Amino acid sequence: MLKREMQKFKKLLLAESEHLLQGIRTIGKDTLEAANAEVAMDLSSFAESGTDTNDRETAMRLASGESQMLRDVSEALDRIDEGTYGKCITCNKEIAKKRLEVFPAAKRCIECESRHEKEMNHR
Ligand SMILES: [Zn+2]
Repeated sequence: MLKREMQKFKKLLLAESEHLLQGIRTIGKDTLEAANAEVAMDLSSFAESGTDTNDRETAMRLASGESQMLRDVSEALDRIDEGTYGKCITCNKEIAKKRLEVFPAAKRCIECESRHEKEMNHR
């Protein structure tokens, strides 16, 4: 993907994360006491590093919904910085531009995403 195009998606992602953070702050007041922006950002490393099953389950539960989306957005921003943005994390092929325009945080191509969703539903 061209640098110029990445910058365009970066703007979209930054706007998206701003929007999600606002949503999380609103939810946080009532339901997720600890769900501030910092916690949401830290959840991904927490979920991955936690060896304790309970910790991991808690992290996974917290990471649901908007926090999960925020995580996807922040990972996409990382991939822009690394220059790997726009490639499927599963098969490494370019993700269709149309898909990225609708869903800039997409990390898998349509084929891999639908396979992934099927696997998730089988759990
Ligand atoms: Zn793929």
